[in-house]
Amino acid sequence: MKRKSLLLAVDLYGCPNRCLHCWLGHMPNRVMEADADRWIVDQFRPYFDSISFFSWLREPDFCPDYRERWERDKRLSVNAVPPRFELASFWRLVRDPDYAQFLKDVGVGCVQLSFFGMETTTDRYIGRRGGFRELLRATELLLENGIRPRWQAFVNEENKEEIVSLLEFSEELALKRRCEAIGGAFRFFVHAGSCDGENRKLYPIRIQKDHIPAPLIPYYLNYPSLKTEAELCEAWREHEDHVELSQQDTLVLFVDNHYDLFFNYTHMRPEWRIGNLKTDPIEELIRRIEAKDTPALRSAGEISLGELVRRYGAPDSRRAFEAEDYQNYLLNTHLERQTQRRSET
Ligand code: SF4
Repeated sequence: MKRKSLLLAVDLYGCPNRCLHCWLGHMPNRVMEADADRWIVDQFRPYFDSISFFSWLREPDFCPDYRERWERDKRLSVNAVPPRFELASFWRLVRDPDYAQFLKDVGVGCVQLSFFGMETTTDRYIGRRGGFRELLRATELLLENGIRPRWQAFVNEENKEEIVSLLEFSEELALKRRCEAIGGAFRFFVHAGSCDGENRKLYPIRIQKDHIPAPLIPYYLNYPSLKTEAELCEAWREHEDHVELSQQDTLVLFVDNHYDLFFNYTHMRPEWRIGNLKTDPIEELIRRIEAKDTPALRSAGEISLGELVRRYGAPDSRRAFEAEDYQNYLLNTHLERQTQRRSET
């Protein structure tokens, strides 16, 4: 039976960065087989009315022939044109003189760039020296080409004062005025990110809500709905429902560079794996997708949110979370403990 639309993103080429906040989790780069893209789309074709195909799920345009690649992504898509989003490769922007023009040609009007403080800290969080300077150069190149940069800053206890300096630095660069000059607004926003993937390791230094510097509050994403861990524990302590992962109209599936298949919920760890496109029959994978039958989602249905809080919550913690991120954090803690227990027996 044919069902709704599919957005299918495949890690065909990898990523030049190793960000300490990466919600997907770090994976080795591997260029997949030349015909992997068509083969993967063909597996799903009988089951969906439309498929938007993306040849990347980590870094967009991280292949030298990105222009042809984009055309091929469009050709492989079924009854759909894949959207471009406000994302691009700053790695490529500073290395390839034609790339900014390509972004304009495909209609990208704004590009998000991620910072973690000033130079040394940003380089360390991106995982390579020169990252901060590349972000600044990318900002200039975007503006020169009539594309607005948008600065996203990840804040924690370690870098909170540097993020204030970064905000001031963006003001010194007159980015607001310069974006307005090309017909749009400059946006600077701050958040702590989810607590998945590599960012889980930053839980000990997650920003405490009372420690968010005052100058950053107007720029903090969804600040009115931000809670402390203590508030969420208190609210959910007796909750009998289970963690529900966000439902979207369009199904989004990720394929890693070894053909493992995942929903786009939280990180790409084994317990979240739906199966493998090469070794599991596609009929069975579709059944698991429709039934949400993965080890993680089965576990989520076997424990209430209240029990997760009672077992793994920190009722005295002032760390800042959005509700959905904290539910995922609790569930992933439970899954890790289950895996640990199994390995010990
Ligand atoms: S956050 Fe994005 S750019 Fe950074 S390592 Fe992960 S996929 Fe790559």
